[in-house]
Amino acid sequence: MTPLRTLDQSSKLKDVLYEIRGQALVEADRLEAAGHNILKLNTGNPATFGFEAPFQIVRDMIEAVPSAHGYSDSRGILSARRAVMYRYEQDASFPPFGPDDVYLGNGVSELITMVMQALLDEGDEVLIPAPDYPLWTAMTSLGGGTPVHYLCDEEDGWQPDLEDIRAKVTPRTKAIVIINPNNPTGAVYTREILEGIAQIARENSLLVLADEIYDRILFDDAVHIPMASIAPDLLCLTFNGLSKTYRVAGYRSGWLVVTGPKGHAAGFLEGITLLASTRLCPNVPAQHAVQAALSGVQSIDALIAPSGRLHEQRDAAWEALEQIPGVSCVKPQGALYAFPRLDPNVHEIHDDAKFVYDLLVAEHVLLVQGSGFNWPTPDHLRIVTLPETRVLTDAVERMGNFLSSYRQ
Ligand code: PLP
Repeated sequence: MTPLRTLDQSSKLKDVLYEIRGQALVEADRLEAAGHNILKLNTGNPATFGFEAPFQIVRDMIEAVPSAHGYSDSRGILSARRAVMYRYEQDASFPPFGPDDVYLGNGVSELITMVMQALLDEGDEVLIPAPDYPLWTAMTSLGGGTPVHYLCDEEDGWQPDLEDIRAKVTPRTKAIVIINPNNPTGAVYTREILEGIAQIARENSLLVLADEIYDRILFDDAVHIPMASIAPDLLCLTFNGLSKTYRVAGYRSGWLVVTGPKGHAAGFLEGITLLASTRLCPNVPAQHAVQAALSGVQSIDALIAPSGRLHEQRDAAWEALEQIPGVSCVKPQGALYAFPRLDPNVHEIHDDAKFVYDLLVAEHVLLVQGSGFNWPTPDHLRIVTLPETRVLTDAVERMGNFLSSYRQ
């Protein structure tokens, strides 16, 4: 018999990293299988922390299932795309767009992948924040492009550093990604910063990719300003979906909205339409959840109000982190995470992935290391603030105790 040929993964995956579900999760699953109770604070998945799907969304989807067994239009069903239009029409500053400017996807994740595949050629550069939601970096690499990370400034509440962005633009830069509100830092960008980014994009003819999946998860006085409304004169792709605001991440339902001038980008947009066709269509029952979600009661508002669960948990996590010697944390203004700093003069950590692994084995708490978000130094961790306050403060205290005697 012919010997079986070794199958390795494709070299295209060389730089594709996704540490949120990396080696530490493999170990967490092994510990769980061995009977341990593991607190997994690695993914922003509301359902696993007792958040229920809003009833009207579940009901509409169930009602749609008997007639949702066929493929749909590749961009998505019209009623859902119109619901997305209606959502943005409520904001007078958001540039107008039509139903053909909306693409539905199996989560924002699929749309990010499609856009990067449609956009990039070998050597094209994409400006991506550091820290970032790592799918942006991974899909830039998979698409054959080169991720170039611009710094967000922790001392400035994690706002993007405009000087650093400017310094990193080259003739090969094709696009700039902004994640606002930000995962992992919880920063919500100021108008001034957004205008600064728009100006750089304008001067260098950059495509703007705005990941705004947390735009309705805001705390205190934070106000989210859509990037598209700051730069109506630029081609801007805005990404959003149901996973976070509506707590139905498992439905895999997201959208992409194209605004601004399109004439110069006809080829690229045709590329997106082509890729949307090749995946046939997004999951149809979940598309029926879009209209129900966007037109019904916005139950997220009660969760982020000062007495709401998400607000209280954000406060509790932040306060508990600030109590730990040698740990500081910019208070998150949005999203579902905290991104504390471990002072390198106090905590000797050279390998943050090893720290996460050791913490998991010792304390049965799973976090994600800052380097998993393309943060350049081993001095940050990301904590998901979705568990109930008691569980969250207990996890942070366990992390603090473990840190106090930890050396590498
Ligand atoms: N973008 C950001 C910033 C995220 O944090 C996430 C998920 O955590 C996604 C995109 C992916 O979302 P979806 O569930 O819609 O694929």
